[in-house]
Amino acid sequence: MRDTNTGKNGMIAVTGANRGIGAAIAKELANRGFTVACLTRKGIVPETSGSEKKHLSKRLVGIRCDVTDTESIAAAFSAIEDLRNGKHDELCGVVNCAGITSGGPSREFETREFERIMQTNVIGTFSICKAAFPLLLKQRRGLIVNIGSFWDQMGVKKYAAYCASKAAVGALTRCLGVEWAKNGIQVVDVAPGYIETEMTAESLNHEATQKFLESRLPGGRVGRPDEIARVVASLFSENVEFLNATTIYVDGGQGPAM
Ligand code: NDP
Repeated sequence: MRDTNTGKNGMIAVTGANRGIGAAIAKELANRGFTVACLTRKGIVPETSGSEKKHLSKRLVGIRCDVTDTESIAAAFSAIEDLRNGKHDELCGVVNCAGITSGGPSREFETREFERIMQTNVIGTFSICKAAFPLLLKQRRGLIVNIGSFWDQMGVKKYAAYCASKAAVGALTRCLGVEWAKNGIQVVDVAPGYIETEMTAESLNHEATQKFLESRLPGGRVGRPDEIARVVASLFSENVEFLNATTIYVDGGQGPAM
């Protein structure tokens, strides 16, 4: 999202940027010349090594942020404003990647645990969108990418809370995209399929899951974080203004497969 007036690439805030898909997205965006505000619970940036470390360190800025805590979000966006007032670029985008999951038989699933998942995945995403809105509005342009899941349209046993949360992320994306289009702000949901991260490590280790996935995945393998990162980063690089209020599935074809 190059600013045609200043020629600058802009700053993008990425939640959950310390590991997994969020880390891959933060690094891919930094590689493409964006400044990345890494909104993480410990205020850290993703690990980099070798030449990448030197090359990316100036573009990755760690800011402490817990997406379930409104005060922490307010402080994080105030820090982003300070960066902007300093030598850094204007905020031109947000990636809501922070997320949690847990499962269990629905008849005994704790309501409190259901609330925890909704609080992080849905209310956290909404709160970050809301906090970013005034900054994006100032420039009358911006792209928000919410990381959903291809489970948003599926009936998955023992994952009612997670599936409901990701369906809500899809709905949130459509509503905010429609509501904020006139303000020059686009909102898009990128919905991954199975990706190898800490979130899936345990289940991907089970032979039964491996056998199931082999039979269900048309390409015969699960996805990698960098594959989601490249899709997300390309949305910022390409800046297609007509793309809005929709969900892009990146699931290796698992969703539509018979
Ligand atoms: P990981 O478990 O590897 O990473 C989750 C990230 O979210 C961590 O950075 C974690 O931070 C952060 N996070 C969790 N809660 C909070 C919070 N309250 N405030 C700030 N950050 C928080 O998961 P993935 O990388 O796999 O998942 C990233 C996103 O992609 C999630 O939204 C997930 O639902 C979605 N997704 C993942 C799929 C997969 O197969 N892996 C498939 C479909 C969707 P911390 O280190 O502090 O815990």
